[in-house]
Amino acid sequence: MQPTAVPADRLLERFLQYVRIGTAANPENDQYPSSPGQLTLGRLLADQLLEMGVADAHQDENGLVWGTIPSNVSSPCPTILLNAHLDTSPEAPGDHCHPQILSDYDGQPIVLKTGEIIDLESTPELADLIGHTLITTDGTTLLGADDKAGVAAIMQCAQTWLENPQIQHGPIRILFTCDEEIGRGTRHFHVKTSGADLGYTLDGGGAGTVDVETFSADGATVTFRGRNSHPSVAKGKMINSVRAAAEFLSNLPSQTLTPETTSDRLGFIHPYTIHGGVSETVIQFILRDFDTPKLQHYADLLRETANQVVQKTPGLEVHVEIARQYRNMADVLRQAPKTIDLAEQAYRDLGIPYRRDSIRGGTDGALMSELGLPTPNLSVGQFNIHSVREFASLNQMQLAAQHVIRLCELWTQA
Ligand SMILES: [Zn+2]
Repeated sequence: MQPTAVPADRLLERFLQYVRIGTAANPENDQYPSSPGQLTLGRLLADQLLEMGVADAHQDENGLVWGTIPSNVSSPCPTILLNAHLDTSPEAPGDHCHPQILSDYDGQPIVLKTGEIIDLESTPELADLIGHTLITTDGTTLLGADDKAGVAAIMQCAQTWLENPQIQHGPIRILFTCDEEIGRGTRHFHVKTSGADLGYTLDGGGAGTVDVETFSADGATVTFRGRNSHPSVAKGKMINSVRAAAEFLSNLPSQTLTPETTSDRLGFIHPYTIHGGVSETVIQFILRDFDTPKLQHYADLLRETANQVVQKTPGLEVHVEIARQYRNMADVLRQAPKTIDLAEQAYRDLGIPYRRDSIRGGTDGALMSELGLPTPNLSVGQFNIHSVREFASLNQMQLAAQHVIRLCELWTQA
């Protein structure tokens, strides 16, 4: 079928306007949102939604932007939340982004102004993008297509619906969140106030993907407590927690169950910081697996290994504390298979090759799903995210908008 016309020039204009506003999340700042640029971009979006005719568009007291497009069909149909995040990753510079447009991409390596190169070796997906309009940076900053590609696509969908009332859709709730990149995307999100029955995040790479799985995730803090005394008179008295921590770490698997040795569906136990001294040493871990019950096994393995070390040294103590982080959204999406089936149907209807995928990480959708709102993630043309080599395909952003419009139409017939 013929996709709805979504004008590429307007989509590009929006995208360029949004990426020029620096919105890097700041993990050092406990305020919400963690950087002022997110409020600036949010205000602009709320104003633009109002101008389009989204009557209730507003930025709430936490900086989240909300808007509703009422249903234009008579049959009752579920309320769909469309979500993207305003912040960008703190892992690469985000301020003063100078987007560069590459029309009709010819397949050659892309050399940024800083000399940084994007080529087939680092980015095999480039082979599929010949003829596309690509947007890169000058190499000094990230682009912020993660997730301003999602923001721009949702904004362009809204405009398309308002200008074309013949395109059928049920009630749409638009939500732009803050600080997703530092794990705070849903801090001020409540399913009930959202009024939504299901959701989609537009925060994925390339085209044609429905992300239906994320990791399940826990954090673990392992604290060894020994006893300090002056080294000159330490014989028989000192209990060194640094040695205990070293032995504990070397007894954990290193050739399996680590991020360095796993991919695809394999999970891991990952120590990422250690600090301490003779009397106390603290090691922090993240535990990750698609299979949620395995997190319990990983926690048990940490406890057993720690206890083996402690048993050899009278007076040495260990505490293992597990903190729940997020859960694989597949556990929730299994109860709402239509959210995935219709997303695939919409790709089929538009002739876009599609696949289901799993993310070795989390999304706001994983947290929303856990809160009771089934929310898979959709492609929106992002590449090389969190780096100065980040770029976006305008053609794929346009496809993403067309896909969402078709998807929402399908929900009116579901
Ligand atoms: Zn993102």
